[in-house]
Amino acid sequence: MVDLNGQYRKIQPEVDAAMRQVLEQSDFIRGQAVADFEQALAEYTRSRHVVTCASGTDALQLALMALELQPGDEVITVPFTFVSTVEVIALLGLRPVFVDVCPDTFNMDVTKIEAAITERTKAILPVHLFGQCADMEAVLQIAHRHHLYVIEDACQALGAQVTFSDGSLLQAGTMGHIGCTSFFPTKNLGCYGDGGAVFTQDDTLAARIRSMANHGMSQKYYYDQVGINSRLDTLQAAVLQVKLPRLGTYITARQQAAHYYQEALADCPGVELPSTTPFSTHTYHQYTIRLAPALRDVVKQKLAEADIPTMVYYPCPLHQQAAYRHLAPWQEAFPVSESLAKRVLSLPMHTELTPEQLQYITSTLRSILS
Ligand SMILES: *Cc1c(COP(=O)(O)O)cnc(C)c1O
Repeated sequence: MVDLNGQYRKIQPEVDAAMRQVLEQSDFIRGQAVADFEQALAEYTRSRHVVTCASGTDALQLALMALELQPGDEVITVPFTFVSTVEVIALLGLRPVFVDVCPDTFNMDVTKIEAAITERTKAILPVHLFGQCADMEAVLQIAHRHHLYVIEDACQALGAQVTFSDGSLLQAGTMGHIGCTSFFPTKNLGCYGDGGAVFTQDDTLAARIRSMANHGMSQKYYYDQVGINSRLDTLQAAVLQVKLPRLGTYITARQQAAHYYQEALADCPGVELPSTTPFSTHTYHQYTIRLAPALRDVVKQKLAEADIPTMVYYPCPLHQQAAYRHLAPWQEAFPVSESLAKRVLSLPMHTELTPEQLQYITSTLRSILS
C-alpha cells in the first residue's frame, strides 16, 4: 500500500543530517526545528498561524477545546471517516450529529447539513476524505448563516486547494475557523512517528491553542486554562522540514498514479472510479474504487493472492460502531455511508509507485473482473 522506505532512501542524507543536528543540539522538546517548520508550513499553506502538536487526533481535540464548546453541544460531521473525527467529539462530552456523504466523492453531502442543525449545534466538522476537499464554499455559507464554527479535518488532504466562486484559492485546513492535519507516516506529508498541526487565521484562537497544547501554560508554571501535553517532537519537525519542500512533488506523484489508474480502469467492467470536483484539487491520499458488495471481498482476496495489497477504508461507518452507536440512537440510517462501507476498495497509492507496478496492478484487476 505504501513504500515509506523507498521514499526515505531518496532523501536519506538530508534527513539523517537534519536528525543528527537535533541530536547534537539536544533541543528535543519545542526546539528550533519546530519553530522553523511551523513558519515554513504557514508560508506553504498561506496560513496566518500554524501550531504543531503530537498527532492529527490531538489537533482535532485542541480545535474543539479552543472553541470552548460545552458538554451536550452538537457538532455536525460525517459517519464515513477515520475514528478520530468522532472520538474527540465524544471524549469532550459533545454530541456528534451525522450527515451522510456523497457516493462519488465520499465527502459530506452539504445538501443535508441544514436539516441537521438544532438549537445546540455549535460547529460543522467536514472531513476532506481521501485527499479531496469537501464543498467548503457551501459549508462556510451555511455556517455563516447559522453562526456556527467550521473545523476542517484536513488530515488526508494537506496540499489540496479549493477555488471559490470569487476566484480566490485556499489551501485545505485554512478555510474554516480551525483546520487540522496529521503527519502520520503514511499521510501526504508524513514524519517518522506521530505528529499533527492546527491552522487558524485568528490570533486569539492561535494563542489559546498554543497554550492548550502545552498544558494550558501562560508563563512557566502558571496555567490559565486546562490543557493537554501535545507537542511535535523536534526530531519529527526536522524530518518534516526536509520533506515539506517536496510535498508538491509527492502530490504530483500521487496524481500521476491516479491518472494511470483512471486511464487503465476507465472501461473496466464492474469498477466505479473516484470522482473529482471542479472546486477542489485531489491529492489522492487514497485511490478508492467501488465494486459490487458481492464482489468486493473476492476481488480483494484475489489481488492479495497476486501480492497486491489493498485496504478497505472504512469497513464500518461510525454510527454503527459499538463505541459510538449509543451517542446517536435516534438518528436515521446513513444509506450512502453504509453502502460505501460494503463497496469501497483502496488500491496501492504512494509516491514511489512505478509504471511497472501500476501496469501489474491494473492488468491483474482487469483480468479478475473480466
Ligand atoms: C489520520 C487521520 C486522523 C488522525 O490523525 P493521527 O495523526 O493518526 O492522530 C484524523 N482524521 C482523519 C480523516 C485521518 O485520516
